[in-house]
Amino acid sequence: MPIVRVALDVPIHGLFDYEVDEPVAPGQRVAVQFGRRQMTGVVMETAAQSDVSPDRIRKVTRVLEDSAPLSSSLLKLLGFCSDYYHHPIGPTVLSALPTRLRSDKPVPVRRDPAFRLIRDPSLLPKRKAIARRIADALAMQPRMLSQLKALSSRVGSELKWLEAEGWIEQCEMPAELPMQSLQLANAHQLNFAQQQAVDAVVQSEGYGCFLLHGITGSGKTEVYVHLMHRMLQPCPESGRREGGQILLLVPEINLTPQLEGYFRARFPATELVSLHSGLSENVRLMNWQQAQSGSACIVLGTRLSVFAEMPRLSLIIVDEEHDGSFKQQDGLRYSARDVAVFRASQSGVPIVLGSATPSLESYHNAQTGRYRLLVLPGRANADARLPDISCINVNQSVMSDGVSEKLLREIGLRISKGEQSLLFINRRGYAPVLMCTECGWLSNCKSCSGKMVLHLKDRKLRCHHCGSQQSMPVSCPDCGHAGLHPVGSGTQRVESLLQARFPDARILRVDRDSTRNKRAWQKMREQIHANEVDMLVGTQMLAKGHDFPSLTLVGVLGADNALYSADFRASERLFAQLMQVAGRAGRADKPGEVLIQTAFPDHPLFRCLERHDFDAWASQLLAERRMAGFPPFVFQAMLRAEGKSERDVYTYLDSARAAAIALQREVEVFGVVPASLARRANHVRAQLLIQAGSRKVLQQFLSDWRIDEIPKGGLHCSLDIDPLEF
Ligand code: ADP
Ligand code: ZN
Ligand code: ZN
Repeated sequence: MPIVRVALDVPIHGLFDYEVDEPVAPGQRVAVQFGRRQMTGVVMETAAQSDVSPDRIRKVTRVLEDSAPLSSSLLKLLGFCSDYYHHPIGPTVLSALPTRLRSDKPVPVRRDPAFRLIRDPSLLPKRKAIARRIADALAMQPRMLSQLKALSSRVGSELKWLEAEGWIEQCEMPAELPMQSLQLANAHQLNFAQQQAVDAVVQSEGYGCFLLHGITGSGKTEVYVHLMHRMLQPCPESGRREGGQILLLVPEINLTPQLEGYFRARFPATELVSLHSGLSENVRLMNWQQAQSGSACIVLGTRLSVFAEMPRLSLIIVDEEHDGSFKQQDGLRYSARDVAVFRASQSGVPIVLGSATPSLESYHNAQTGRYRLLVLPGRANADARLPDISCINVNQSVMSDGVSEKLLREIGLRISKGEQSLLFINRRGYAPVLMCTECGWLSNCKSCSGKMVLHLKDRKLRCHHCGSQQSMPVSCPDCGHAGLHPVGSGTQRVESLLQARFPDARILRVDRDSTRNKRAWQKMREQIHANEVDMLVGTQMLAKGHDFPSLTLVGVLGADNALYSADFRASERLFAQLMQVAGRAGRADKPGEVLIQTAFPDHPLFRCLERHDFDAWASQLLAERRMAGFPPFVFQAMLRAEGKSERDVYTYLDSARAAAIALQREVEVFGVVPASLARRANHVRAQLLIQAGSRKVLQQFLSDWRIDEIPKGGLHCSLDIDPLEF
């Protein structure tokens, strides 16, 4: 009987042999018995015989034929990820699949009716805005319910109304899409730099990696759109006989219905699906299958969509390539950007990494010629002026509760002019905690090494690491003194200060808590646009691509935290964040101003920022990294362990360290140290860093290290290749 080698979601390296009656293609999902469990796996290889003895080998329970097999190129990509990230193949393969395909439950056959227009939509009543939007979408060709759903949450009821009133009817979806489906709407005439960028990518034969570097507003998105348009077309000369498929990866926070709507509007008749964790499991499966079948020509997604099956892939774009959300922080700790580059080279297609502030890794690659650098030097809209960026020296300013009088004055000025201000608080390594002014007691978390953060609204102390909470004590638990005061300026505290100073101002707090809910965030954005807000206070970037035309002032608090941080990437991130936040100010006709509070106004970070000079900043950082022997000049892997017993954690890491040293390779083995958060929810956390001068040496070392053979006890351990968090 033929043998199949199956990938299963178990933490063991290797594949598992099963017998099958009929040959099964690699990539096919199968249900098998594993131990006492019924599991779903993916056939990776077939074989004529097995090393497992005939009386012990089991038969595949069922071949799950309700989904098409994964392509050999996707299996190869996953194999690469498993090798590179030293993560078992089974969990790697299964985690790349939509959740619904990880189980053996039958794939639902979704009723997804198509609709077509049967009356002139220009006669639709003006007030039926959503119905009109649906009609616009149907003007070119019929569309399926699933595609229309993205237009609004009220699509269902509006479709019913349109159908009942005789504007549309249900129909069959035509198998062949008309050529007009490649139409590009509202295109700008590209400027010279944009055109050069598009041409360079289009003319690349097969694989090529391009770094598109241009400030916010320089027209990167416009370049993407034109490129997508070109790469969607068949191009027989380059061997692309059919139309292509485009994968566009964006950071988590950016994938909003607005962005999706934007690309849909630019390609009104091209199938576009989005893939992100905010979708229901069934919708995600459906979208994934549309990519797999090739019916979706554009896939817009967050990091996990780098594994979307796309048989006619012709271009990959990674927008905001420096963004931290492309890195997965648990399980398969992959960087979607890096996997995308590998995927492009494997598929022989170009890839464009776009950013206003490229990661030093990509920037270095562009300088050494591994990537090609494409620069958009100015703002696309010639009238748009760059904001004025300057520093407020906190040592020479009158301060109230951490905010300088100068900044408060400027905010007051904007309120009186009917303009908006944004106060950005850099929270990295910093939070409002409670302190006793008498004995110095601090609100430490009992189960972590972190501090409990003060939430004034419900008068609670909360630990942001383990989630434990308690009500705010009225007096010091240690000395009984009643003078407990918040230190540090959290968003809520700044909000209270501002509200006291400007009692009539309408203040909106935008932080992780308030943007977690998609609807709430959407409503906030509408409020901002409608000018129902005078001031925004936030810890997190307002997503790219959303202009707030009345926003003319950005104030930055807590910037210096990044300069003290133990994490060597903190200042790189701060620069990127501030460039991005500066890009929010004065995009329209009103010039913007950025004021940064700092004790070090002469620090190169701020000096370069004031001149909008990313290149100067990057060269300085790169020189420092080269001197210090940090990435991108070295390659790193981090072994982390976490557990209840401090002794177990350190014993494990010490053994791993001894094994590493015993190998005597050209790698640097650092000491075992506590993690930056050394205790979380009563678990001790520590780490061991390994560094090498080349990827190859590091990979070879990791393959030979055999940390799996070191007893783990009940510890939670992980190996992180190219770690970003320290
Ligand atoms: P980025 O993605 O770099 O922030 P966008 O592509 O969003 O920049 O462009 C910024 C603004 O400039 C947008 O309003 C866009 O419509 C406009 N724009 C882009 N390219 C051109 C062009 N070639 N001519 C005129 N306007 C342009
Ligand atoms: Zn005290
Ligand atoms: Zn805690």
